Amino acid sequence: MSHSDPSFHLFLELPLELREEIWRYCLPHRVRELDTPLAQNVFEPEYEYGSLLPCNLQGTTFANGLPPVLTRVCLESRKVARETGALQLPASSETADLVWEADSLRKQDWEDRAREDRARESVHLHWTYIYGADFESSGRPLDYLVLRAVSVAAGSSFMAKYIDSRFDWAGEAARASETEQTLQPETLRDLEALRKLPSLQVVVRVIVVHCDFKAAAKSGLFGLLGDARVQIVDVRDENRVVDRYLAFAEACEQQGSIAVNQDFRRELVAVTRRKLKDLIMGTYGCPILAATARPAIMFRLCTKMCNQLPVRSRQAERGGRRTRYPRGSRGL
Ligand SMILES: [Zn+2]
Repeated sequence: MSHSDPSFHLFLELPLELREEIWRYCLPHRVRELDTPLAQNVFEPEYEYGSLLPCNLQGTTFANGLPPVLTRVCLESRKVARETGALQLPASSETADLVWEADSLRKQDWEDRAREDRARESVHLHWTYIYGADFESSGRPLDYLVLRAVSVAAGSSFMAKYIDSRFDWAGEAARASETEQTLQPETLRDLEALRKLPSLQVVVRVIVVHCDFKAAAKSGLFGLLGDARVQIVDVRDENRVVDRYLAFAEACEQQGSIAVNQDFRRELVAVTRRKLKDLIMGTYGCPILAATARPAIMFRLCTKMCNQLPVRSRQAERGGRRTRYPRGSRGL
């Protein structure tokens, strides 16, 4: 091995146990998405209704559910990946699916069932009440998240918009019935489910990183091999990782002709925490829940470059139209 050649040619001479341990180290630590996100539900109301959105999100969700890169390197790495990983079992054989059924539920994704100190996977629920406008559903999404979280995952998360979506989207009628206590049992059941979650990570913002696979893998921010395409990072003062993701996302958005720019400014941690606390107190009135909930940002790697304006629109862009930041505040 010369200094200019970064390849390590002695790998095959290592003992098998060591090689397997190295392969295991390269497996992705994924956030498994339990359901498919809809871009308009994720980005509104921060971005205007009907306007261009920063990403359609679909490419990321699809790629994040594929078998990891290791299943395509060699027989040995594939065997290691399959020790704990497999495509999801058919839905009918799992009791969790009796708890909640929705058209947006993901059922064919790769699942890593490693447990305890070896657990690599956490689960995330995108569903908010507004999804009911686009997808048939029955049962209770938060109960489904709880079942998944306790049986499989290293952690669990859901959207802050789940907590306030009833107010945002059902309008005045829902608010009136809330005061009449008709929604109270529903809220209480949600609260019970949230109390059972082993970790209460709440996604307050979604940022999409648009770059090619190679640059993503090199950054190390989406797994060693770039195949952990969704990452959820706690918003904490001491957590500088958030800044690394934001800086990388912003750098990636300098290239090409961007349809709609994202806002990469970091809100004060204290403000984010207070907003989430107020939201939880306003909906559930539970101080313990408000104290234990951790605000977090979801970062998504999109290699489809769906944020680029088509060539036709670029001419209009040069003619004076400018990219813009989203309207108003970012919310949380
Ligand atoms: Zn995209």
